[in-house]
Amino acid sequence: MDRSTDRQGPASTLGLYLHIPFCRSKCDYCDFYSLPGGEDRMDGYLRALLRQLEEAAPGAAGHSVDTVYVGGGTPTVFGGERLAALLAAVGRLYRLAPGAEITCEANPDSAGEELLRALRRAGFGRLSLGMQSADAGELAAVHRRHTPEQTDAAVAAARRVGFENLSLDLICGLPGQTEESWRRTVEHALSLRPEHLSCYGLKVEEGTPLARRVAAGEELPDDDAQADRYLWTVERLARAGFRQYEISNFARPGYESRHNLRYWRLEPYLGFGPGAHSDFGGRRFAVPADLAGYLAGEAVPAGETVSPWERGNEYLMLGLRTAAGIAGEEYRRRFGGDFAPLEELLSRFAGHGWAERNGDRWRLTPAGFLVSNRLIGALLEAREGAEGPGT
Ligand code: SF4
Repeated sequence: MDRSTDRQGPASTLGLYLHIPFCRSKCDYCDFYSLPGGEDRMDGYLRALLRQLEEAAPGAAGHSVDTVYVGGGTPTVFGGERLAALLAAVGRLYRLAPGAEITCEANPDSAGEELLRALRRAGFGRLSLGMQSADAGELAAVHRRHTPEQTDAAVAAARRVGFENLSLDLICGLPGQTEESWRRTVEHALSLRPEHLSCYGLKVEEGTPLARRVAAGEELPDDDAQADRYLWTVERLARAGFRQYEISNFARPGYESRHNLRYWRLEPYLGFGPGAHSDFGGRRFAVPADLAGYLAGEAVPAGETVSPWERGNEYLMLGLRTAAGIAGEEYRRRFGGDFAPLEELLSRFAGHGWAERNGDRWRLTPAGFLVSNRLIGALLEAREGAEGPGT
């Protein structure tokens, strides 16, 4: 079988991810690479990021950067001037496409009007705000620093300074959350009229304070409750005009996150800062999650070439997270594989209401998204059984 036809999306476009590893304090569920405090290291960190941006630029010279995403951590604690300096460097060192999607993550307690105005002036056009819940008790229970009122104020300020593309993050399944309080959170989020919503199910990550709380006996909303809330949310957001375009992501038409779509479509991106991942030139690599090493210029990105076989697995795993799903013709063209065994399994999933077919494309239904890990696992096994692990 010829697997040499694998290609990684359109070769000419590129996304940049810039990681800001600072937060005012740590939330109980968080396992992102971020450190509380760190004001004394921020100028040094800006210099280190600029250095990495400069070093990587020649390799990206043939690409047009059409998405830039500044995430964390809490980018807004880095300050408007530093964020503006970063974006200016991107514009100077990279070929920034006209109309590029440029996103900054923010938390409501560090997204004042002055800072948001500085971001707009610098060229940020999309704001992703960590609302998480409209219930003060739920926020406090996981040591989020902000209040629901601060979310409302941050949204109002973002609109005043001209952000026309606003996303809100919500967490389903927080400690103490009930069906009613979740619905109130979604309704409140809708009342703020965002263009985009991300609704993530709470995950208990190893090593976090939340994991210790659960080990000590604290109970969280169970899987059935989570499933009910999820299916209700999908239906409620559809009624409000939001299209579900990925398991956890919903957007008004035309407001899908182009940067996140890039990850799911296996399109290239470069990551900057400790812990940031890249997928570029057929290789996946990551900067070690070590701020001190990064500041000292010692954090060398390390990774490996992705084989066409692995790329085919990624196509299935990531494509089936999206509403666009996967297609037999595309699979055969990019990975040279036999789609028939996969199609047989997908037909069986359809019999259970977990998948649906539209022409040549297959996608999971909301009920299928709920059990996506199991379904995708079965597809990967079927692929391995039919074609072997390949190279
Ligand atoms: S603000 Fe975000 S990145 Fe920072 S600790 Fe909380 S969840 Fe993690």
